[in-house]
Amino acid sequence: MARIPVDDGVITSVDDPRLIGSRCDDCGNHMFPTQSSCPKCAGTSTTPVELETHGTLWTWTVQGYPPKAPPYLGNADPKTFEAFGVGYVELPGQVKVETRLTEADPEKLKIGMEMELTLVPLYTNDDGDDVVTFAFAPINQNGDQS
Ligand SMILES: [Zn+2]
Repeated sequence: MARIPVDDGVITSVDDPRLIGSRCDDCGNHMFPTQSSCPKCAGTSTTPVELETHGTLWTWTVQGYPPKAPPYLGNADPKTFEAFGVGYVELPGQVKVETRLTEADPEKLKIGMEMELTLVPLYTNDDGDDVVTFAFAPINQNGDQS
């Protein structure tokens, strides 16, 4: 049984995942997912770059009901659906990434908290492979209230 990414070209590999974005050759603006032109300066020359794996939580919410499927590929059965967090993680000096979060408990999510990139299973395909997507997980901060 293999792990395969749900989208081609979004992460570098499942073993050592990095998000793939673009950097504008003209102004240095970062984009995610990759884009061939820059929304900031309208430049049309961009280079693919591996993005930071750590960032801070910029804003978040909890997806408490199944997203519309399609396009949603995960478990959309209201009876067995499990809520998950979604939000934006700001990668330092790069870009804010819209992402699934591994944590869905509002008590455990705080704007500005440290987050790191990980992969979560989305569904199992017909070959029995785990199809995974990227997510950000809170980093345990020692000494914080529990
Ligand atoms: Zn630009």
